[in-house]
Amino acid sequence: MDCQEVVEKMYLYLDHEILTEEERREFEKHLEMCRQCCKRYEFERALWLLIRQNGLGEAIPETLLHRIENVIAQF
Ligand SMILES: [Zn+2]
Repeated sequence: MDCQEVVEKMYLYLDHEILTEEERREFEKHLEMCRQCCKRYEFERALWLLIRQNGLGEAIPETLLHRIENVIAQF
């Protein structure tokens, strides 16, 4: 599994939509080896948790949006 594939599957992984056990293992293995994807995953997971907590369709506060933009700018 390469970086592009890992990024594409991040949300599937978070939502437990990756069907095979093998894919989950490969995903986790890549995160352990690849610092860039690991950081990206931590960010996506934080965002995912926020969306979950706020509920889908709810407006994200402007201050939070700016924080997210700052984090994205670091990549
Ligand atoms: Zn990677």
